[in-house]
Amino acid sequence: MVNLAVDGALRVDYPAAMLEIIRIPVLSDNYVWLVHEPHSKATMVVDPAVADPVLEAAAARGWTISDIWNTHWHPDHTGGNAAIKEATGCTITGPAAEYARIPTLDVQVTGGDTVRLGAVEAKVWDVPAHTAGHIAYHFADDAAIFVGDTMFAMGCGRLFEGTAEQMFANMQQLATLDDATRVYCAHEYTLSNARFAVTVEPDNDALAARLAAVESARAAGEATVPTTIGAERATNPFLRAPTAEELGRIRALKDAA
Ligand code: FE
Ligand code: ZN
Repeated sequence: MVNLAVDGALRVDYPAAMLEIIRIPVLSDNYVWLVHEPHSKATMVVDPAVADPVLEAAAARGWTISDIWNTHWHPDHTGGNAAIKEATGCTITGPAAEYARIPTLDVQVTGGDTVRLGAVEAKVWDVPAHTAGHIAYHFADDAAIFVGDTMFAMGCGRLFEGTAEQMFANMQQLATLDDATRVYCAHEYTLSNARFAVTVEPDNDALAARLAAVESARAAGEATVPTTIGAERATNPFLRAPTAEELGRIRALKDAA
């Protein structure tokens, strides 16, 4: 449908949930996300740990990678940047605060910025804690958020460059999203997280049921992400932590587990 926006500019609204999102498992437990916007054919990669499987996944679909979006500087999120850029000439967008640590970065963004993939817009969120400049990308119309290593299924990222207070604020911000929002995290840590989570919340029936489902899925070799905000609201002890102190306490327990 075509709308006339308030300012008189002609604007084309596409139906929601138009993105095609492909999961590419790489290394021991990383997920790289390939995101295709079919109207413009723009194709973006979130956090390419490596290049070859990503280039192959795009080529198999007849897609050409136009963009890379990084969430943070860690090598298992940026290691494929240079080779994908060399092969495709793509534009690399990432956190301004980590510019010096991502030498391939073309476009620096920070919380509140809008980034475009073809006809679709994403908002950049600042989610510092795992790294000091970590960002997330929220596609509101597609009800999808790419969180890197900030939230995992039933878990959260380790606090390498930030505090429990910052991670608590990140969890509270994620909790503002609708239950149906899909959460695309960067690792398959779900089984380990679930086994830890039941020790934090032994009386949580939804969590016990989810642990059983995850055990079956992993035994069958199935991926368990994306997750959803609704599933995390019911079962993620870090999202459910009532205070930053409690989040910090259980994060320390998980680190020692
Ligand atoms: Fe990381
Ligand atoms: Zn990672």
